[in-house]
Amino acid sequence: GSWLGMLGGGQLGRMFCHAAQRLGYRVAVLDPAQDSPAGAVADLHIRAAYDDAEGIRQLAQRCPAVTTEFENVPASTLEQLAAEGVAVSPGAFAVAIVQDRTKEKAFIRSAGVPVAPYAPVFEKNDIAIASQSLFPGILKAARLGYDGKGQVRVATREEAMQAWDDLKTEACVLEAFAPLDYEISVVIARGRDGQAVTYDAARNEHRDGILAVSTVDPDALEPGLQERASRLAKELARELDYCGVMCVECFVLTDGSLLVNEIAPRPHNSGHHTIDSCGSSQFDQQVRTMAGLPLGCTQTLRPSVMLNLLGDLWFENGVQREPDWAGVLRVPQAHLHLYGKTEPRLGRKMGHITITGDTLAQAQERAAQAAGALGLVYQP
Ligand code: ATP
Ligand code: MG
Ligand code: MG
Repeated sequence: GSWLGMLGGGQLGRMFCHAAQRLGYRVAVLDPAQDSPAGAVADLHIRAAYDDAEGIRQLAQRCPAVTTEFENVPASTLEQLAAEGVAVSPGAFAVAIVQDRTKEKAFIRSAGVPVAPYAPVFEKNDIAIASQSLFPGILKAARLGYDGKGQVRVATREEAMQAWDDLKTEACVLEAFAPLDYEISVVIARGRDGQAVTYDAARNEHRDGILAVSTVDPDALEPGLQERASRLAKELARELDYCGVMCVECFVLTDGSLLVNEIAPRPHNSGHHTIDSCGSSQFDQQVRTMAGLPLGCTQTLRPSVMLNLLGDLWFENGVQREPDWAGVLRVPQAHLHLYGKTEPRLGRKMGHITITGDTLAQAQERAAQAAGALGLVYQP
């Protein structure tokens, strides 16, 4: 069979492997870890740093097409692969923009899509001269942040100056705190030919900066919101000349308007439900886009609730234990996904459960049962 290449060894890479293998492909994963969620299920695990010339060459030799599962892959690696004749999706151009918040925000705004008021910060003085309207706000490191890491909420300019010193980074964005009603995200798949399809928006709840719950039911969305969010995602993907799967995170403000918070150049945690609730999953689409196959059906077949499983669940009073999986699996249509991570840690994403139902109310009721079995708090 033919090979597909993946940069990164995390759970997104693992679920990509599953989708690719089901379609008859073999997958080579480039990841430095000895043991990783994707490396463990890949047909070949190349253990090398993401910028290791020999590792990149090995991947290029085997794989006519390569994708990535995390945004912090060096853009130079993508360029190097492309130079060796590999079809790289997404390309270095798109990834270089979205992996740097200063570029990402400027790009989104230039595409005519609203973002929260912000100022790029390259030195402390940029905070000193920033508009007073950016406070209270959030200072976010331009690079490498995820799950709310690398960002600090700041009530005042003085706090922002202090946060700049604490973050010890080369660049940040200072963003005004937006009056959120709630958050949604839209996953889009776009082929090399420019054809694009979007999934129904997921409504997302975070706990401690980490996604906790995503709920998807197109009938429960405010009228018109899906169309607005989809149009915006398509516009951004087109402007990025994007090939592959990406996710657009949006804020719905209390006045009903829509802002884009950030773009992830890969499948997204809020799209994991697609494996169990849609015609075609976001990972299946990743395979299709990179292999030049027709795009899959994005229709939501059943309303769903996705619960993230963090390492915290593996600890009770400081003692490590295995959560009650049987209790979860007793719940009808509770689809358990564990990522094969051997070391649970607080805040670490270890797996997720997607619970589907004939109606949203049924999915929520079942989600409460599954959560209850794990001692997890879930309130629709
Ligand atoms: P991710 O894991 O999604 O990549 P991240 O570390 O990149 O997270 P953001 O998505 O920028 O961080 O922010 C995390 C969360 O913080 C958002 O989902 C939102 O709840 C809140 N947040 C971020 N920016 C703002 C803002 N300008 N106003 C209000 N809340 C915000
Ligand atoms: Mg992010
Ligand atoms: Mg985010």
